[in-house]
Amino acid sequence: MNILIINAGSSSLKYQLMNPDTGDVAAKGLCERIYIDGRLTHKVGDNKVVKDIPMPSHSEAIAAVLDILVDAEYGVIKSVDEIDAVGHRVLHGGMEFSDSCIVTDEVIAAIEKCIPLGPLHNPANLMGIRACQAVMPKTPQVAVFDTAFHMTMPAKAYRYAIPTEYYENDNIRRYGFHGTSHKYVARRTAELVGKTEFKMVNCHLGNGSSMAAVKDGKCMDTTMGLTPLAGVPMGTRSGDIDPAVVQFICNKYGMSVDDCLNMLNKKSGVLAVSGVSSDFRDLEDGAAKGNADCRLALDKFCYEVAKYVGAYAAALNGLDVLTFTAGVGENGPDTRAAVCEYLAFMGVKLDPEKNKVRGKEMLISTPDSKVQVWVVPTNEELMIAQDTAELVKAAQ
Ligand code: AMP
Repeated sequence: MNILIINAGSSSLKYQLMNPDTGDVAAKGLCERIYIDGRLTHKVGDNKVVKDIPMPSHSEAIAAVLDILVDAEYGVIKSVDEIDAVGHRVLHGGMEFSDSCIVTDEVIAAIEKCIPLGPLHNPANLMGIRACQAVMPKTPQVAVFDTAFHMTMPAKAYRYAIPTEYYENDNIRRYGFHGTSHKYVARRTAELVGKTEFKMVNCHLGNGSSMAAVKDGKCMDTTMGLTPLAGVPMGTRSGDIDPAVVQFICNKYGMSVDDCLNMLNKKSGVLAVSGVSSDFRDLEDGAAKGNADCRLALDKFCYEVAKYVGAYAAALNGLDVLTFTAGVGENGPDTRAAVCEYLAFMGVKLDPEKNKVRGKEMLISTPDSKVQVWVVPTNEELMIAQDTAELVKAAQ
């Protein structure tokens, strides 16, 4: 089977052509500068080609992707008919979607209904879906939502302690994000530990970071909220703060709420605390050279991650497995070690040699650790391809 995976942004579109059974990627690439001029970067293995192609809308971007996939020189398939289905990443499924689904007119209408919750991403995701429908009308399209995995949370986890009318009238609640990544890691970890019933906390630590408390494969709580701004501090996002900070800053500096939220999303997090960078490699370099602000940014990050592990161990009434994934989780032994040091009281013990691993699946705790600690590289594209293939096969 060939599944085309599409992640459409407002002016960009990422794609991969993947075999959902093996995870092999035949080709992948990126369309950029859609609506401006248009550039396609296409990769097959180590070979890369960059082409300037006019892309006045997402439709031309999708058409360019299909053209290059069947191109005599750079293509990997002979005909577009060899694409069995398209899996679209969609940011916000609101309360409408608790799983991936085949795109129908009703599904499109429901994704549109979620636009107020994902005003930047959902319209772009819809443009990607509509563009594919236009250029490949016979090929099934599947929507995979970043929020869906978290829809199993109990009300005590997802409801905010604010007046009920905002929940009932406006659907304001915790949704959580990175759901496709958390779902992939939860499933893969179950295979690795050889069990389906266990309590785990997954730490997706990257430029954006979130954590999920998972029991028997189902999400019980997660750190991000109505938007991805909540939870642990991130590359440029503040994570949790007292909401009155917004009022204070807006009043004192004459800022609008939108400007203040922009600051909390784009100019905060470890970038703000370090004053140096949002990239953890730069922070580790800075800290190693004695920069106290870089050290503080790293310490703050690990402290907040460890705090949530503790909170989720209480929420789950125990913890069997702790997993680390995404850029920092997969490649940051120092971050993992610092987080686990806080958890020694729970019987978490890392094997320092095994914890040196980068980007590979590995059990990094000692045999006598009370909690198994794993590095499990995430693969959101594979999860999208598998969900898409499953739904399409079931519908046949
Ligand atoms: P992501 O958003 O998952 O792509 O993760 C991006 C983050 O991962 C950046 O802050 C990178 O600095 C971090 N990262 C990637 N590779 C490494 C590495 N080898 N050591 C430490 N951090 C890394």
